[in-house]
Amino acid sequence: MGAMARPIADKRRCVFCGKHIAAHLTQCPFCREAVPQVQLSRPTGPDGRHQIRRGLLYVLLAGVIHYFAAGYADPIKIPLPAPILPLVTQYGTPLLFLGGLGLAFYGVLLRIRH
Ligand SMILES: [Zn+2]
Repeated sequence: MGAMARPIADKRRCVFCGKHIAAHLTQCPFCREAVPQVQLSRPTGPDGRHQIRRGLLYVLLAGVIHYFAAGYADPIKIPLPAPILPLVTQYGTPLLFLGGLGLAFYGVLLRIRH
């Protein structure tokens, strides 16, 4: 009974051949199969905070670029050829804005699930 309850700290069982291998190994020394690392705790797992921050950054960036590219900040102008600026304001910044919004939304979903 006592032996059963004793946790094996640095050993684990290969899921392919069933032999005991060192816990830190990523490949079984007996059957050469790649053994997935057991993740008991994930302190650096995605909790959404990173995605939200980056998403909001993209949204902000899109707003700033759009502001300058659309000419609202006259006399300050982006040194780009005239035919490219409409492309930026029509496709570039909206895509960046939506992408950032989506990323932030994805981060919110991750946070809800945690
Ligand atoms: Zn094995």
